[in-house]
Amino acid sequence: MDNTYANRSIHCTVNSCKFHNDKENYCSLESINVQTHEPNPTKVECTDCASFMCKDNCKGCM
Ligand code: SF4
Repeated sequence: MDNTYANRSIHCTVNSCKFHNDKENYCSLESINVQTHEPNPTKVECTDCASFMCKDNCKGCM
């Protein structure tokens, strides 16, 4: 996965994602999908990046 690109419109600190540009703390995708896992989202914790994919070597992911 080439994650050297830094999309400066998508700041991200999720180091375990295979699309994360670790050097610059940006997403390397052109766009992402954001979703909610709640029926009535009211807090930031209610939202998720649906484009997340665990790095091949990350631990603790399913
Ligand atoms: S896909 Fe989502 S979680 Fe992964 S680097 Fe991009 S914004 Fe972050």
